[in-house]
Amino acid sequence: MANGPAVAKAVTDQDEFNPFLSMAKLFDRAADLLGLDAGLREVLRRPDRELTVSLPTVMDDGSTKVFTGYRVQHNFLRGPCKGGIRFAPDVNLDEVRALAAWMTWKCSVVDIPFGGGKGGVICDPRELSQGELERITRRYTAAIMDILGPDRDVPAPDMNTNEQTMAWIMDTYSMHVRKTTTAVVTGKPISIGGSRGRREATGRGVMLSAREAMKKLGRRPEDTRVVVQGSGNVGGIGALLLHREGYKIISISDMYGTLLNENGLDMPQVLDHLTQNRRLEGYPEATYMNSKEQLELDCDLLVPAATENQITSANADRIKAKLIVEGANGPTTAAAQEILDERGVVVVPDILANAGGVTVSYFEWVQDRMGYFWTEEIVNTRLEQVMVKAFADVDATAEQHGVSLRTAAYILAIDRVASVHRMRGVFA
Ligand code: NAD
Repeated sequence: MANGPAVAKAVTDQDEFNPFLSMAKLFDRAADLLGLDAGLREVLRRPDRELTVSLPTVMDDGSTKVFTGYRVQHNFLRGPCKGGIRFAPDVNLDEVRALAAWMTWKCSVVDIPFGGGKGGVICDPRELSQGELERITRRYTAAIMDILGPDRDVPAPDMNTNEQTMAWIMDTYSMHVRKTTTAVVTGKPISIGGSRGRREATGRGVMLSAREAMKKLGRRPEDTRVVVQGSGNVGGIGALLLHREGYKIISISDMYGTLLNENGLDMPQVLDHLTQNRRLEGYPEATYMNSKEQLELDCDLLVPAATENQITSANADRIKAKLIVEGANGPTTAAAQEILDERGVVVVPDILANAGGVTVSYFEWVQDRMGYFWTEEIVNTRLEQVMVKAFADVDATAEQHGVSLRTAAYILAIDRVASVHRMRGVFA
């Protein structure tokens, strides 16, 4: 376990694509505006703990392969670390560091009692069987066991991990501690302690954030053409819920290509097609095209909901949407945000817009600990209350400081964590 070298490095524009440095740049700007003292800035800027693990795994052909996994705990001042686990070939430590820090700020923005953590395993799930995925997941869980637990660190799904992955983690942890411990992960199947509404929660939060921003801008869903990048848990469900609210979804993509229909896509049909075919290609009621320029399509609302570093200094001046609601974590680089600010594009930042998932994860953790489960209606009503209040808090902070919603979200989040730090003091 060590603090990474990137933490101490000065942040320059050449570092645009390093998500941790991009996060640090945004952090520094907000810390300056808050007048945060140097010591506290140093504490909050760097991850508290980083664990890198080797995961020997027996493959289906009998060979043994060693995968690499990470778990980063950025900060636990406000409560146990909370954050997803992603499986992807290009996972790296700086990415996981950034995602862990964003979780600290996100939990603080929506004011739930968690700190921030994140994990990842370098692997390509498309090339792995279910059995291989299960063995990697269980080995990863055993390897990071010592820093997990309902009061320590509570993972959740992220890119390429799902309810099944969480079930394996919960089972592996429970076998080690000799009792069923449902609250060690969230995003589980409902039958083993999951929460109603969790699967849709991030997409629902994206829809609610868009609704609050639209009210502020005096716009109506019926007049709003939407482009959504990504059609997974966040993009697919976000697009479906926006469609139900009356927005016209003209384009949605996956990692292979983009659908475009200027008259609006029938989202339930698109998602049925995706479930059956595992990709958007072949959907009959739309043009299928290369994704290269999807973000630059003429639209009113853009929802990047795939991955980080999609809106950059290379394309920010060609984005036509006047409103961006970030479903993904870190889809806009710090350099791109400056260009969007100059152009007057309103961005509802990731740490606010996609916080619906972690909010219902919090509800799931509460329900697991109570052993008492809520109806979907209660979950959705409480989620709406949290998202509406968080949006109003960030908006008020933006007005107060005369800054963008992103800088305001950081100011609000850092201020809340800093005040807990002052109250708790430094353990020595
Ligand atoms: P997912 O694996 O369910 O879906 C990802 C989607 O993005 C897929 O449709 C994939 O094909 C597509 N994709 C990947 N690269 C792409 C590219 N370059 N262009 C277009 N499409 C691309 O993942 P998810 O859970 O929906 O997560 C998406 C983003 O949202 C990630 O940044 C994740 O960290 C963030 N997020 C997820 C949650 C959650 O609850 N799942 C919560 C908060 C934030």
